[in-house]
Amino acid sequence: MDLVTELTAIVGAEHVLTDPATTASYTHDWTSRFSGDAFAVVRPGDASEVAAVMAACERAGRPMHPQGGNTSLVGGGVPAGSTAADRAPVVISMTRLDWIGEVDTRGGLLTAGAGATLAAVQRAARDAGWMYGVDIAARESATIGGTVATNAGGIRVCAFGMTRHQIAGVEAVLADGTVISHLAGLPKDNTGYDLAGLLTGSEGTLAVITAVALRLHRPPGGSTLVLLGVDDIATAQDVIATAVPAGGRLLAAEVMDRLGVQIVCEFAGLPWPLRGRDWSQLLLLEVEGDEVVLPSDVDAVVASDATDYARLWRYREHQSEAAAIMAARIGGVVHKLDVSVPLPRLAAFVGAMRPVLAGLPSVQEFYLFGHIADGNLHLEIAEPDAIDDSATAAVLGLVAEFGGSISAEHGIGQAKVRYLGLTRSEAELAAMRSIKTALDPAGLLAPGVIFSR
Ligand SMILES: Cc1cc2nc3c(=O)[nH]c(=O)nc-3n(C[C@H](O)[C@H](O)[C@H](O)COP(=O)(O)OP(=O)(O)OC[C@H]3O[C@@H](n4cnc5c(N)ncnc54)[C@H](O)[C@@H]3O)c2cc1C
Repeated sequence: MDLVTELTAIVGAEHVLTDPATTASYTHDWTSRFSGDAFAVVRPGDASEVAAVMAACERAGRPMHPQGGNTSLVGGGVPAGSTAADRAPVVISMTRLDWIGEVDTRGGLLTAGAGATLAAVQRAARDAGWMYGVDIAARESATIGGTVATNAGGIRVCAFGMTRHQIAGVEAVLADGTVISHLAGLPKDNTGYDLAGLLTGSEGTLAVITAVALRLHRPPGGSTLVLLGVDDIATAQDVIATAVPAGGRLLAAEVMDRLGVQIVCEFAGLPWPLRGRDWSQLLLLEVEGDEVVLPSDVDAVVASDATDYARLWRYREHQSEAAAIMAARIGGVVHKLDVSVPLPRLAAFVGAMRPVLAGLPSVQEFYLFGHIADGNLHLEIAEPDAIDDSATAAVLGLVAEFGGSISAEHGIGQAKVRYLGLTRSEAELAAMRSIKTALDPAGLLAPGVIFSR
């Protein structure tokens, strides 16, 4: 039996796609920078179908590429480029595994299928009187499995930590179709290696995650949201350092360059939000409780009600779309960087980085935004060429000099493979390769992601 026939027998004909017209949305990424060939797209409906699909692919020696909501910003969700026909992967789309289990309201535990969207998980937690601690602007499309596979960060890391901190258990399928399942979510469980922790952030290269158990949090008792103008990163950091009253908690701290906010105002029809128009950056701060401590002479606006709260967040939520508009204006593409630098060196890093980018001939326009309290900045660089990596190389080299990370939260995907050695040692990379070889000896899972093919 050929592989397509075998896959069809497992998931049904309507869930095996081979026509390029129907597979295009699975083989092209959100940024329009990455695309690749697929042998087929398969949409299993449950974990046993995932296991059967993977066992069939393994027997046929066929690479596999797990995919969630395809919102990766580093080309991780799609096959890596053109390849010989016998090496094109089967894309395993996980979106049909979208079940959400009953919330354990005593322990604050939620179990969900890998294909449930982040937004659906957030809603289920909220409806049960709890909250899920991870939030990103792609919440309506990103799947919970994808956010675990990438160890997603987002706007609440300063309060609740990365996805890794929320993981209580995982069910996954190894490359040969073997299912490993450990979903009890015990708060205390020291029985050997933490496989859920290992798979978190593995970007589809070690196993396909089919279900996760997530730790929930008690929701904060109300919050205050304020948007203010600052002259530079150091001032923003000073404001954050004193903004939270004693006993309070920082819930979000997002910085945005003026250019990104200006583009959002134009395309979203929003007014410029502050009195002053010349601030280099705007800072969005959310603090638990009804007080934020601000310097006396600050140019700030405080959200007055729920509508106003949503409006102020829109300036931040549209930053990624604004980058696409910036690139379209020059007829080019966006090169996206997601870096972190130790907090004491963040301002100096930005001071060094801006003139480097401004001096590169390929760079037409750029702006930064991001999770400043985590030392995590997203750089959106508009360039005419999708291939030219000179701006990326310059910035990531600088990140390494400042002791930072070339990927704070988006992952390595295909976009950053050649730069991984900048901030991880040869010994670390060798250990990672050993783990990959142990779990996926034939190298069938997500080829071209994290490691070169
Ligand atoms: C507007 C926008 C805002 C964003 N903001 C943030 C942000 O603030 N913070 C942040 O961290 N990210 C952010 N992202 C990036 C992206 O949303 C996250 O990386 C997200 O976690 C990817 O989830 P997904 O389901 O779309 O995964 P995909 O894009 O489909 O896949 C991502 C990676 O995970 C692997 N994968 C997917 N599902 C599985 C599975 N079930 N098992 C094993 N491997 C799997 C894929 O092979 C791939 O390597 C943003 C993206 C957009 C478009």
